[in-house]
Amino acid sequence: MLKPDAVENGHIGGILDKITSAGFKIVAMKYTQLSKRDAQAFYAIHKERPFFGELVDFMTRGPIVSAILEKDNAVEDFRALIGATNPADAAEGTIRKLFATSIAENAVHGSDSDENAAIEGAFHFAGREIF
Ligand code: ATP
Ligand code: MG
Repeated sequence: MLKPDAVENGHIGGILDKITSAGFKIVAMKYTQLSKRDAQAFYAIHKERPFFGELVDFMTRGPIVSAILEKDNAVEDFRALIGATNPADAAEGTIRKLFATSIAENAVHGSDSDENAAIEGAFHFAGREIF
């Protein structure tokens, strides 16, 4: 996902260019907005964390771009491309270093395993929307 801050700050094109230039193929993509229920479900793993309410408010405050990306070693390579959760700790040239503003508003989400990538892809897309 390109998170609401990335969309608000005009970074959709810049981030997609970084992603496709790094060799990821876009096999599904949409411009949409999460409901509170959607965001609570998507980030349910964090529901006991102190920042959960803030995270849900942030993720629902405006449109996002969701996508399914394909590449060899995609999960690990995408996490490397986006950089650390906190942009202050993110390596030079990573998407979060370039486009994120804070640990909360960090521009992009990446799946953390192949299993979660499949679950999250099915969360956002119907089968006929995946190419
Ligand atoms: P994501 O799952 O969005 O790709 P991540 O895997 O790098 O990010 P997680 O630990 O899964 O990091 O946290 C999920 C999201 O919750 C973060 O991307 C960020 O938006 C928010 N978040 C994490 N830690 C904090 C924090 N300490 N304060 C505020 N928001 C936070
Ligand atoms: Mg995560």
